[in-house]
Amino acid sequence: MSEKNSHLLSNRIKSVPKSFIREILKVSNHSDIISFAGGLPNASLFPVSDIAQASAKVLEQNGAKALQYSNTEGDLSLRNLIAQRYKEKQGIDVSPESILITNGSQQAFDLIAKALLNEGDDIIIENPGYLGAIQSFSLYQPNMLTVEVNDNGMDVAQLENVLQSSKPKFVYAVPNFQNPTGISYSQENREAVAATIDKYDTLLIQDDPYGELRFSGEEKESFYSLIPDRTIMLGTFSKVVVPSFRIGWIVAPEWLMDSLIIAKQASDLHTNYFSQLVMSQYLTDNSVDEHLETIIGLYSKQRDAMLSAIEEYFPEGVTTATSDGGMFLWVTLPEGMSSMELFDDALESKVAFVPGHPFYVGEPKENTMRLSYVTVDSETIREGIKRLGKCIKNKMQ
Ligand code: PMP
Repeated sequence: MSEKNSHLLSNRIKSVPKSFIREILKVSNHSDIISFAGGLPNASLFPVSDIAQASAKVLEQNGAKALQYSNTEGDLSLRNLIAQRYKEKQGIDVSPESILITNGSQQAFDLIAKALLNEGDDIIIENPGYLGAIQSFSLYQPNMLTVEVNDNGMDVAQLENVLQSSKPKFVYAVPNFQNPTGISYSQENREAVAATIDKYDTLLIQDDPYGELRFSGEEKESFYSLIPDRTIMLGTFSKVVVPSFRIGWIVAPEWLMDSLIIAKQASDLHTNYFSQLVMSQYLTDNSVDEHLETIIGLYSKQRDAMLSAIEEYFPEGVTTATSDGGMFLWVTLPEGMSSMELFDDALESKVAFVPGHPFYVGEPKENTMRLSYVTVDSETIREGIKRLGKCIKNKMQ
């Protein structure tokens, strides 16, 4: 379609911000650049041969059935396995019927927004917050309100203020190893956030792709245990097994489930059935906990390498948010320094990161940046942080 016809685009699509990260990844993906910019898991850990075996077994045992259309809710054996894992790992009782399999958690955002939001409705998101969720919600043209996150979680006083002066349909939160900051809500913070939300007519969406990637420290309580009637849980196998299957899920109450199923049916009928059966077979034949140990072993080693390189090479006045797991570190540069400008210098030194800018709704904190440590080996991390440290020091002069 030529430019002159672009007025035919919907208001809905015009209201969505362009993916800034996509642009950054385009320039930072060259092989001679040390990139801390990506958000992808480390592919060298994908359980390729176990998945090959699971796929062969599904085709041998289920043949034609595995290649047929299926139901919208998702494969029952897979939903059973997810429910069992909630019970074993978090002591949470959810029934398989309350689980809807989605095309990654990314689709969960879309379906929830489709089912809950009218144009102009208030919603609350974390600031900084997960870009993919912000983009997905934007399509439904809500009024996005924000609450700051710090090292301990959400700013509860601010949350209370925002809740008092708005009528949000939901609060969206990533309480474990948040993207972009890597921080987790403390137990006290969770209790305070839950108690605050519970006073208002709203819901909490707990998105949790990284919760099982804990390197150290105690597991914290799920919002589902604190305010079950108000919490919708999202989960995904993307960071724990593989992302290409696009298998995520929503744990939703009965009153919402029918609407989510209708929304999903209208979108794509169902999530790839073959992937669901292979995932289910993989989970039955293999220990996810053992696989997680391998992931955690590598990621935590690389996280430590990044932290010690930061300690050695970054100048005073640069701070790093505390993180016990996940994939990211969040760095705050000295006041007044722009990470966008630093990005250009860093690229010249062949190192890349994501400036904090795109994760903010409204006024960004210009001096922040996200560093991923999962796809770069420890030695290369040291070299990259050394180069970045040099760029920061140059900017300070
Ligand atoms: N939520 C957060 C916080 C994420 O970081 C990601 C992936 N980067 C997703 C959801 C999307 O995950 P999925 O692959 O399940 O769509």
